[in-house]
Amino acid sequence: MSDALSTTVMKGTGVVAGTAYARAVRVRPRPELPTADGTVAEGDRPAEYDRFITAADTVAARLDARSEQAEGSAAEVLKATAGMVADRGWRKAVRKAVSSGQSAEYATVVATDKFVAMFEAAGGVMAERTTDLRDIRDRVIAELRGEAEPGLPEIDGEGVIFAEDLSPADTATLDTDHVVALVTELGGPTSHTAIIARQLNLPCIVAVGATVRDIPADEMVLVDGALGTVTRGADPDLALAAVAESRERAALIAQWRGPGRTSDGHRVQLLANVADGNAARLASDAQVEGVGLYRTEMSFLSTTEEPGVDEQARVYRRVFDAFPESKVVIRTLDAGSDKPIAYANLDEEENPALGVRGLRIAHGNEGLLTRQLDAIARAAEGRGDNAPTWVMAPMVATAEEAKWFAGLCRERGLTPGAMIEVPAAVLMADKIMPHLDFVSIGTNDLTQYTMAADRLSPRLAHLTDPWQPAVLRLVRHTCEAGAEAGIPVGVCGEAGADPALACVLTGLGVNSLSAAATAVAGVGAQLAEVDLERCREIADAALAAEGAAEARETVRTMLRA
Ligand code: PEP
Ligand code: MG
Repeated sequence: MSDALSTTVMKGTGVVAGTAYARAVRVRPRPELPTADGTVAEGDRPAEYDRFITAADTVAARLDARSEQAEGSAAEVLKATAGMVADRGWRKAVRKAVSSGQSAEYATVVATDKFVAMFEAAGGVMAERTTDLRDIRDRVIAELRGEAEPGLPEIDGEGVIFAEDLSPADTATLDTDHVVALVTELGGPTSHTAIIARQLNLPCIVAVGATVRDIPADEMVLVDGALGTVTRGADPDLALAAVAESRERAALIAQWRGPGRTSDGHRVQLLANVADGNAARLASDAQVEGVGLYRTEMSFLSTTEEPGVDEQARVYRRVFDAFPESKVVIRTLDAGSDKPIAYANLDEEENPALGVRGLRIAHGNEGLLTRQLDAIARAAEGRGDNAPTWVMAPMVATAEEAKWFAGLCRERGLTPGAMIEVPAAVLMADKIMPHLDFVSIGTNDLTQYTMAADRLSPRLAHLTDPWQPAVLRLVRHTCEAGAEAGIPVGVCGEAGADPALACVLTGLGVNSLSAAATAVAGVGAQLAEVDLERCREIADAALAAEGAAEARETVRTMLRA
């Protein structure tokens, strides 16, 4: 790095490793929002509404055209956004505001505010869609004013994108020939930007804060996605050397072939996290040994009535069919908190992350759980010994819960396990594990509950960091208890997607790691470079650190040496 005086390092949460050195590119700003005017004369109101319709249709057509050029989930996101611009309810709300004399621009704001309030009241995943709503509002307003569409500009050469947060439509059409890294002021490790960056394998840092606004467009910046740093004034030679090293690593990752093992042959099963049959089919092309977490609730987020056993079995079978010869770990409904399910959750809770979520729902409604277990058993019929079906419960906190859940599974010939994601379950592992055949540590929630920090809060990303030694100590305790009880311990939170952390987890005694399928090769390639003894040494170093940043940096240095 050049002399410390002219070098500034800004720190966020690195979510995709990799180094990039390129000029800063800012997303085109959102339009200034209009205020109420109410001055459109009655006779002009139909034409004013037509003006809105023309603009909305233009925006929808543009999104549709981009969706046709895109592929896979990018195409779906764009199509869904175009669908929102065409939404009849939203357009009706605009017409109502126009017919009371508001301009098309302001009517667009009024209609959007109404829908944002509705989505926010619904909470969870619906609330996350408010970003899309505001995105279409801004695009339509810019179109009405004849301004350039907000969002990503065309990029010449290579660029690092800086944004407050990226809208799904922006991330869906990232031009990966030119975009070499993403940096957002907001967002967290599970935000939309992070998920897309992981899919595209683009170095990405989130939650850097507003200080990055000081970086003028076109200034050269060095981004290190593993450390979560943005460096201004970096020495160009050193920066380019770091980029070359990162490219070498990318080449190693591309060549890596499973199964997962350390350099001395210690096996670590690498598995995929999936949300539905489509994701499972995509994951089956990756170097994974099966599914380590099928989040069943993701299939029912917009389902209002509980699906019957047959219907559920059909949904689950799509995932099983993608892995006919491999292990699938299926999780029973983890409804609640950020994933409310209309037919499972209470309407209102003061504090849903600490509320009736996950297995807790079944205490007052055992039929909901047993019908799901029946459906899982039915879907798993005929799967041979090569394709074990393991079933785990989310949010287990006590030994009674583990025993009760295991009993219901065993009655149906299913192999029971539990997520370890509540600190109480770690502390009681010696009592919980004897009832079970396996456990899987959910580091996302285990970190949230250990650090008492909302996993969705961008301002707490430094706390909701699985490198927190407090969390790693709980992982160690869980692995020790697993070895004592003679059952395997996996990790299926986002921690399993971080190659350096994967070595730490292996050193702590974790037997399998489950992550987004796109992250698995990076983890496998890193594990292949270290032996088990080294994994244990770096795990000790991480446990001995004072905090998450020190743990991460110590381990990274040790891995480089
Ligand atoms: C976790 O909490 O780490 C986990 C894997 O479950 P989810 O992210 O679905 O809560
Ligand atoms: Mg969880």
